[in-house]
Amino acid sequence: MLPKGANLQKIRDGKKTYAITPHLPGGFIKPDIMRKYADVAEKYHGVLKLTSAQRIMITGLKAEDIENVWQELDMQPAMGFANCVRSVKICPGSVFCKRGKLDSIKLGMELDKLYHKKEMPSRIKMAVAGCENSCSEVHVRDIGLLATDKGWDVYVGGTAGSHPRLADKLVEGLSYDDSLKIVDIILRYYQKNADIERVGQFIDRIGLKKFKADVLAEFYGEVSREAEPKVEQSKIGEKIVPLPGGLTEGTLVLGDKITRDSVISDIIRVYPQTIQVLRAFGMGCLGCPSSAGEPVWKAAEIHGLNVEELVAALNKVI
Ligand code: SF4
Repeated sequence: MLPKGANLQKIRDGKKTYAITPHLPGGFIKPDIMRKYADVAEKYHGVLKLTSAQRIMITGLKAEDIENVWQELDMQPAMGFANCVRSVKICPGSVFCKRGKLDSIKLGMELDKLYHKKEMPSRIKMAVAGCENSCSEVHVRDIGLLATDKGWDVYVGGTAGSHPRLADKLVEGLSYDDSLKIVDIILRYYQKNADIERVGQFIDRIGLKKFKADVLAEFYGEVSREAEPKVEQSKIGEKIVPLPGGLTEGTLVLGDKITRDSVISDIIRVYPQTIQVLRAFGMGCLGCPSSAGEPVWKAAEIHGLNVEELVAALNKVI
């Protein structure tokens, strides 16, 4: 079983090492916490690593030390589960940066407070930047807010990684309050209508025109929440629609047994009840295009699991 609040990092000569990542909103850290980090990492022979989500990971830890590490740090894990709002990346903005046009820290911290760890169909990464330089990489985040002379521009559907996609501009020149309002509408719309897919994949599946029309209609008060148009979702058992990036040929259909060669994204589309099983085995990457495109044997190998046990557990729930 995966130690609580830890990620498996490496299996070397049969020995597993783990990493923990505490939540550091906006990447801000007080000097005394920084000292504690260093002391705890040193005590448990860990290595400190800065992450792309503006956090500090302690890696190279042993399973038996994880509980003590958390206790001594007295901090909260950044990750709750795989498919949730994972991070809000924030640039220094007008508070600290000479180029800053708007207060990205205030907006980013508020988004972090409202949505961090909120459950979603897949992982969500957000970013807020204080000017067009986009130091927090707004254009490769699921939801990004970028300050201009006219207000906040809102971007959706960006992602980096193995299947990169640049974000689409949704709307521009919003106030602080309207930015919060539209992010809330986007997240509810995505929660209600998306399959296990990133925002960009969802937009590619339903079309940017529809996504934009639906979100902006609610934003401008043209539809009530109850009357929100529903996007047609994939039905269990239907021939699988390949995900953007050609991740699956969609060969698994309802009634098929899961084998070691079945692809993770096929399995969760045809048999959504397997999601809980995969999560229970510590596979926190269900919304990630590259890992979702892997066969079961490969995913088991990466996570240090017994593939036969995993296949048996999956078949038990279908
Ligand atoms: S995005 Fe603009 S405001 Fe933010 S750190 Fe970069 S230059 Fe400064």
